[in-house]
Amino acid sequence: MEQSKVVAITGASSGIGEATARRLAADGHRVFLGARRTERLAALTAEIAAAGGGAAYQRLDVTDAADVRSFVAAARARYGRLDVLVNNAGVMPLSPLEALLTHEWDRMIDVNLRGVLYGIAAALPVMRAQGGGHVVNVASVGAYEVSPTAAVYCATKFAVRAVSEGLRQESAGDIRVTLVSPGVTESELADSISNPVARKAMESYRAVALPASTIADAIAYALSQPPEVDVNEIVVRPAASAQ
Ligand code: NDP
Repeated sequence: MEQSKVVAITGASSGIGEATARRLAADGHRVFLGARRTERLAALTAEIAAAGGGAAYQRLDVTDAADVRSFVAAARARYGRLDVLVNNAGVMPLSPLEALLTHEWDRMIDVNLRGVLYGIAAALPVMRAQGGGHVVNVASVGAYEVSPTAAVYCATKFAVRAVSEGLRQESAGDIRVTLVSPGVTESELADSISNPVARKAMESYRAVALPASTIADAIAYALSQPPEVDVNEIVVRPAASAQ
C-alpha cells in the first residue's frame, strides 16, 4: 500500500467529494471530511470506519474563512499533520446573465472561488511548517470554456484555474498543486439551478454523465505520484461528450 496521508476534503457530503473520501480511505489514507450537512458526513464516516478506514468530520461552511481555518486546524489536531487539502465544495446555480440573479452569482463566487482561497489560506501555513503538502482544487471543464447560462460559474472556475497556476508557480519545491476538471458527472450539483431556462438546458447537457468515482480515481492518481512528480491538470470527460 502507498504511504498513508492525511487528506482534508471540502464538500464531502455528496457527489465527487463523497466518492473521493471513499476512494482515498480505501487506499489507506486518513480522511477529514467537511460540509454543512453533518448527518451525511456522520454516516459516511461510520461507513468508512466500518470498512476499516480512518475518517472523521467537522461541519464546514467554506464561505467563512474562520470556519475553514478551524476545519484545517481540526484535521491537524486529529491526525497530527495535513498532507493534502481537496478544495472540492462547489455550487452551480446556472442562469442567463439577463435573469440578474445577483444573489446566485454571489453564492458561486463565495463558495467556488472564495472557498478555495480560504482553503489555501488555512492550509498553506500548516503545509509550509511541516515541509510540504498538496493542494487539489476541483474546477470543471468550465475552467476552459464558457457556455450560455454558465458565465458566472465558468468565471469562478477560470479563476480557480488561475489561482492554482499561481500557487504552483509560487510553491515550487514544497507544495504540489493539482487542478482536477470534471466534465458532466453524476452528483447533486444541478439541483441548485433555480432558473427554468438553465434547468431545461441541463436536461440534455447532463444526459451522459460519469460516475463520481471516476473523478475520485483521478484525484487518487495525483496523490499516488512520488514526491518529485507534480500532476498539475487533469480533465476528465465522458467519452461520449462532444462539449
Ligand atoms: P454536489 O452538489 O453533489 O456536491 C457539492 C458539495 O459541496 C456538497 O458536499 C456540498 O455540501 C458542498 N458545499 C456546497 N456549499 C458549501 C459550503 N458553503 N460550504 C461547504 N460545503 C459546501 O456536486 P459535485 O460533487 O458535482 O461537486 C463537487 C465539485 O465538482 C464542485 O466544485 C463542482 O463545481 C465540481 N464539478 C462538478 C461537475 C459535475 O458534473 N458534477 C462537473 C464539473 C465540476 P453541503 O451542501 O452539505 O454543504
